[in-house]
Amino acid sequence: MIILDGKKVKNEILDNLKKEVLSLSEVPHLVVIQIGNNEASNIYINNKAKMAAYIGYKFTHKKYPEDISEESLITEIKKLNHDSSVHAILVQMPLPNGINSNNILNAIDSKKDVDGLTDVNSGALFHKIDALYPCTPSGVMELLKYYNIDITGKHAVVVGRSNLVGKPMAIMLLNAGATVTVCHSKTINLSEHTKDADILVVATGNPHLITADMVKPGSVIIDVGINRTNDGITGDVDFDNVSKNVSAITPVPGGVGQMTVALLAKNILKAYKINKEGVEHDN
Ligand code: NAD
Repeated sequence: MIILDGKKVKNEILDNLKKEVLSLSEVPHLVVIQIGNNEASNIYINNKAKMAAYIGYKFTHKKYPEDISEESLITEIKKLNHDSSVHAILVQMPLPNGINSNNILNAIDSKKDVDGLTDVNSGALFHKIDALYPCTPSGVMELLKYYNIDITGKHAVVVGRSNLVGKPMAIMLLNAGATVTVCHSKTINLSEHTKDADILVVATGNPHLITADMVKPGSVIIDVGINRTNDGITGDVDFDNVSKNVSAITPVPGGVGQMTVALLAKNILKAYKINKEGVEHDN
């Protein structure tokens, strides 16, 4: 059984990016927009700041009050769209009630959308056109590639259908030649599906939803879940028991979360190149 070591792969990716950034004519610049003071968001933004500092990216954190109007926020984003010294823009989710996150995300110039969540970039993924893709599912794909895990023809089951993880994950696996099943909260008899998965990706936010009897022996298990429990951070998979019977599994922490940061770092450099050097999407 292999532990898919997201931390190790992330470190390699960051070190390569760090070298490449030294050779650029300008420093890539990420702006993170935060609305309100969500505690989890503070941690995630702090991690992004650390990653940026390590690689040598310029990092700006713009924090707005909880009661900012949707219109003012869109005006702020549009200013950043037009600012040529800014190459990457990220709006930290979740947004306070009353702000339509779709409107906010789509205000971001798709060429600076390093979270890959604008309709333009989602459409590019759908059509298999190279673009800025969402970091978490991209991180999963990169991890599978690093460990030479074959996807073509495999039965991949994705549990979760969010726009952030489940849906783009399913499309990426489909684009890579897997036969894909998507399960969600309305799925009847979840284990019937999960037991048939060669590659099982779980992104639901339910600690230990996936137990040993729900997985196929020898399969590959990707646990995207990050759940804060009394016992600390845990994934959606019962790691201790599931890991006994599979061929590869990601730990939580130290798995997909690390890869998400790595892929954000990659997307920042990609956005820089798209903006600065006029690199167009090559399909
Ligand atoms: P979400 O709440 O938007 O979506 C959860 C999905 O899981 C939904 O589609 C829902 O239908 C499905 N679901 C919920 N309960 C289920 C059940 N009992 N059986 C089957 N399906 C069920 O969440 P999200 O943004 O997609 O995130 C999912 C998890 O992944 C969370 O724990 C989140 O913290 C984590 N996450 C981790 C990373 C990372 O970098 N590792 C990034 C994003 C999200």
